[in-house]
Amino acid sequence: MVKFDYVEPNTLKEACELLAEHSEESKLIAGGTALLIWMRMRLLNPRLVISLAKLPDFDYVLFDEKQGLRIGAGARHRDIELSPIVRRNFPLLSETFRKVAQPRIRNMGTIGGNLCQGDPLTDPGASLIALDAEMTLTRARGKRVVPVENFFIDYYQTDLQPGEILTEIRVPYPVKRPLWSQIKFLPRSQEDFATVGVALTLAVHDGTCQDIRLALNSVAPTILRAKNAEEVLRGQAITDKTVRHAAEVAATEVDPMDDVRGSPDYKRELVRVLVRRALNQALRTE
Ligand SMILES: Cc1cc2nc3c(=O)[nH]c(=O)nc-3n(C[C@H](O)[C@H](O)[C@H](O)COP(=O)(O)OP(=O)(O)OC[C@H]3O[C@@H](n4cnc5c(N)ncnc54)[C@H](O)[C@@H]3O)c2cc1C
Repeated sequence: MVKFDYVEPNTLKEACELLAEHSEESKLIAGGTALLIWMRMRLLNPRLVISLAKLPDFDYVLFDEKQGLRIGAGARHRDIELSPIVRRNFPLLSETFRKVAQPRIRNMGTIGGNLCQGDPLTDPGASLIALDAEMTLTRARGKRVVPVENFFIDYYQTDLQPGEILTEIRVPYPVKRPLWSQIKFLPRSQEDFATVGVALTLAVHDGTCQDIRLALNSVAPTILRAKNAEEVLRGQAITDKTVRHAAEVAATEVDPMDDVRGSPDYKRELVRVLVRRALNQALRTE
């Protein structure tokens, strides 16, 4: 590994100032589970590594009915998976974080590092999009809030601007669409990244779909929202025919990569099957 300096700021202000001063030559580190791999492979060679480990109040998981769920960017996957308030009010998130990698990674990796890495194979982004989550990006002079849906720009590229630190993820409450499903298709090993991931939230009244949000991971250069498939169902009766049609349309919205997990055609077929399965599962959470 190339030599680098390492600092552990004690406040968010200090971290923001260091990042502003060294934005070109530095990288933030949270759990290090992604960054260190890239550094070891020499895909990244920062001169300065700025640790978020000592930031106070950076790993909270808090809930109240007015503000919803607020998660500090430094919260580890395991903190979210095991949180009773998450399990009670946002079961889709408990289910998602339970399936991220294996306990060793879940005990180190943070939600902030997961989202900022911009890796389309990762799971939390799709579930957060399905739940209308937003994220707060903080810099030395101010902050901005962006929907998770708009954060992923391209393969490993996000809307995070130089000098910004992701500080909080907020999930509104009550969840607008109470039915949900999350499927992580893992044919190789329980610890692998998803071949295809599906997350959705759904509101149904008298057999009609009032609203739906459907997000997919591992099937395009970014985690994405399948808006055309949502449109097929929104305002329509939920029948076997409309569910099949929505799944067909979802398969036209993806652009999967050919990799060790399968060919683009195979993954597109999986989208057809798994979106249908996820919709049927969600109907059973009523
Ligand atoms: C073996 C293995 C299996 C895995 N399997 C899965 C899986 O099944 N599902 C899944 O979703 N993920 C999986 N992952 C990915 C894992 O979830 C991520 O590596 C992890 O979440 C990254 O978090 P971290 O805290 O370690 O980030 P780091 O490695 O510390 O940082 C990652 C990137 O984010 C930036 N960053 C970190 N925190 C912030 C912040 N607050 N603000 C701005 N930038 C920040 C860093 O500068 C760096 O560029 C796997 C990883 C490994 C190594």
